[in-house]
Amino acid sequence: MPRVAFLGLGAIGTPMARHLARPEHDLVIWNRTATRATEFAAQPSVQGHVRVATTPADAARDRDVVVTCLPVSSDVESLLDGPDGLLATLAPGAVLVDCTSGDPATSRRMAARLAERGVGFLDAPVSGGVSGAEQGALTVMVGGDEGVLTQVRPVIECFGKRIVHCGAIGAGDALKAVNNALLAMHIWGTAEGLAALEKAGVRSDIALDVINTSSGRSNASMNLFPERVLTRAFPRTFRLALLDKDVGIAADIAREQKIVAPLLQLTAELFRQAHRELGEEADHVEAVQVVERLADTTIG
Ligand code: NDP
Repeated sequence: MPRVAFLGLGAIGTPMARHLARPEHDLVIWNRTATRATEFAAQPSVQGHVRVATTPADAARDRDVVVTCLPVSSDVESLLDGPDGLLATLAPGAVLVDCTSGDPATSRRMAARLAERGVGFLDAPVSGGVSGAEQGALTVMVGGDEGVLTQVRPVIECFGKRIVHCGAIGAGDALKAVNNALLAMHIWGTAEGLAALEKAGVRSDIALDVINTSSGRSNASMNLFPERVLTRAFPRTFRLALLDKDVGIAADIAREQKIVAPLLQLTAELFRQAHRELGEEADHVEAVQVVERLADTTIG
């Protein structure tokens, strides 16, 4: 059975790691803020199955598969070097599975450096949110060698229900960025439409009821707005800062590919501004509050 390490116990990393905490994986975890790792290891459900590493190098020692899930690719890249870095201990034949919603260029650079040491790399961003991670039902978009994916598939299957090979290194990152750009468009567009309807005298609950059985519906209109906006709950599950990063990656890809994509570029600009206005800890759905402020109305 593969020996596994997991680095990055954030909002989505924590429930992913929980599925890997099985005796056969001999799981080792590492988190920048060490208390998060020690608290994780002390939970009754995983107690005895998990060891807390002191450094990334300590985590990667003797591991067959190292899974990372950090905010951006450059955070993962920064863990490679130095005496405490992953490259100090990753052994030939091991595989780094990066579940960060990353950027293709950095993933390609990391893959090339790891390949020099005989270490495999897959970009493997996930979708399905925190609830999908808790249920072990994430979709995993994989870029890289198919043989390497076959090798580590049993590990990814612990938290992933749909595992899709998307192409070469960076393909998973690219697809994830475009998916999230569409999420951002749906959130912003639905907010603008509902704000206009509120001002025109149509209640948002009535509008959503109709939209959700009509052609304008989306995950935003069917789930996010009823559960998080109309209730004014705005739970913090996925930071706006991270969605801003994802839309930026998608806009960069369109630019690099010389695609005329005004909607992608505008969405990137709107989410950059919303991130700046609402700060690092705001949830992605709180972007709706920027639309509400600009429209001088409340949805719901
Ligand atoms: P969080 O912000 O909740 O957690 C980030 C994690 O990364 C924390 O463990 C943090 O450590 C660690 N970290 C941050 N910066 C560094 C660094 N420079 N070096 C080492 N560790 C660092 O993020 P999420 O868990 O929400 O997201 C992680 C990735 O998954 C992102 O790429 C995101 O886009 C993606 N994602 C998130 C989803 C969600 O619903 N939340 C859904 C799908 C994808 P510390 O505890 O020290 O702060």
